[in-house]
Amino acid sequence: MNDSDLYTLRANLDEINKQLLKLISERGELVQEIGKIKNAQGMKKYDPVRERHMLDLIAAENEGPFDTSTMQHLFKEIFKAGLELQEEDGRKVLLVSRKKRSEDTVISVKGTEIGNGNPLLIAGPCAVESYEQTAEVADAVTKRGLKILRGGAFKPRTSPYDFQGLGIEGLSILKKVSEEYGCAVISEIVHPDDLETAADYLDIIQIGARNMQNYELLKEAGRINKPILLKRGLSATIEEFIHSAEYIMSQGNGQIILCERGIRTYERATRNTLDITAVPILKQETHLPVFVDVTHSTGRKDLLLPAAKAALAIGADGVMAEVHPDPAVALSDSAQQMNIEEFEIFTRELVDAGFLKLNQMV
Ligand code: PEP
Ligand code: MN
Repeated sequence: MNDSDLYTLRANLDEINKQLLKLISERGELVQEIGKIKNAQGMKKYDPVRERHMLDLIAAENEGPFDTSTMQHLFKEIFKAGLELQEEDGRKVLLVSRKKRSEDTVISVKGTEIGNGNPLLIAGPCAVESYEQTAEVADAVTKRGLKILRGGAFKPRTSPYDFQGLGIEGLSILKKVSEEYGCAVISEIVHPDDLETAADYLDIIQIGARNMQNYELLKEAGRINKPILLKRGLSATIEEFIHSAEYIMSQGNGQIILCERGIRTYERATRNTLDITAVPILKQETHLPVFVDVTHSTGRKDLLLPAAKAALAIGADGVMAEVHPDPAVALSDSAQQMNIEEFEIFTRELVDAGFLKLNQMV
């Protein structure tokens, strides 16, 4: 055999490869057609009886040089690829998915953009307790150049005997404070019937961890024209979290901020376990802004700063943290809220370390 023979044989192989490629692609197209029929008829994609029939056919037709088992193995790979093609076609691409929209969603509240690459800090008390308490925090927060104040008016508490929040009165306080201090306000709503009323008082509506799978609340939140900050459920997977956001978006409201707030694990050193890698995963899988709540995830004041740094370093669009004028007497989450001085140090450290840019530093 000389060099030119080898050249010819290899050229033949290349030609056969091309033919195989064409045939496998044609097969793929046929499989897609079959998939459409199966979809329309609600049939299962994988049919073991049909698969067995095809393998038997390969065995009957095989004349060597390859073993039947080798041939069947190769064909099984082709069958598997076809099945994956059918499943991809059948699977609906979610509206919140990056596959649906490659650009980041940017949400504008009172002239502040969320998700534009410039990270934000949302701070405020766990609960709105009085006008004075809320105004004192608003003063500290806005003085440091922050644009969004938080404060709970409807508090979902573990015990029904604990402070449940001031309800609508709390929302009125937030609205008044937002006008006086020129900031946007965010608060949690727990009942679908309250959403429309709340939209008159708030700039962002929060749906809390305990309600992440309250589908009626999610659907109603999807029908209003107001940004929604959706927190991850206590034991929700990332996939469940994304589907909850989809519930909102499927009803027409695409102004959604995702907020990782820690999940329940066996670890007791922190209140919850901050799933820090959820941030880049959510950023990759969806086009929505992603925040990290460092207060509820850690439940520890000494971890607020490192957790916030980690969140911003890994790509979060912002951080949420709780601040109270006198945490020792706070009506909820007294152990982990920062006082105003601690909050100022917290903010300054984030700015000095280059994680945050704030305009009105005092
Ligand atoms: C809150 O932010 O006030 C709150 C109750 O948080 P979560 O829903 O994450 O527990
Ligand atoms: Mn709290």
